[in-house]
Amino acid sequence: MKRNQQNPLPPLDKVYDELFAAFGPQHWWPGRTRFEVMVGAILTQNTAWTNVELAIRRLRREHVLQPRKLHAVDTATLAEWIRPSGYFRLKAERLKSLTTALIRDFDGQLSRCFRLSDQALRAWLLDVKGIGPETADSIMLYAAGRTQFVVDAYTRRVLERHDWISSGATYDEIASLFMENLPRDVSLFNEYHALIVHLGKHFCRPCPRCESCPLRHRLPIRCRT
Ligand code: SF4
Repeated sequence: MKRNQQNPLPPLDKVYDELFAAFGPQHWWPGRTRFEVMVGAILTQNTAWTNVELAIRRLRREHVLQPRKLHAVDTATLAEWIRPSGYFRLKAERLKSLTTALIRDFDGQLSRCFRLSDQALRAWLLDVKGIGPETADSIMLYAAGRTQFVVDAYTRRVLERHDWISSGATYDEIASLFMENLPRDVSLFNEYHALIVHLGKHFCRPCPRCESCPLRHRLPIRCRT
């Protein structure tokens, strides 16, 4: 990957330690079952988790958080149930694409789906309509317990602002940066992504709050005030 040279990549485990010391454990992913985590990963696309929680709560009340049960709900009804998550018609279709693929390929059984190798599982997820790399990797890490780093817009923003990646870095290049520079540890990847989300929400916002941010000392020198 082409990287700017002004600010060399620091040891990413040290960055993790600094974030963890500042924010503490984030207790992700707040799903009760692996299928609920998969559903949440689709519902959280382009929306805040607080909205997703309302939709998930409704699905729990309707007792449909199993692949075959969710699949049996007609798409219009499902869309109404998940309305609080935003883009609800599109997301209802995406959930149906997921359940269709699970039933077609694994008889609706997650245990069979999760027997796939890392590479095969990621390829299978990416083949489901409406599942892109971030959603696929969230499912890989948080539902299937695989050592796959999740990259989101916050990750890219933090890395770009510190000149640790170039603006043209691809999703897979950013994910590899973490995966090649950290021990392959599911709990580490789990917590690290959650900490970056906290960082992005509370400090590395569109208008950054660098003065009180725990990563302030890691900014390129020209950016420190
Ligand atoms: S120091 Fe500034 S740019 Fe760096 S992560 Fe914090 S808020 Fe973002």
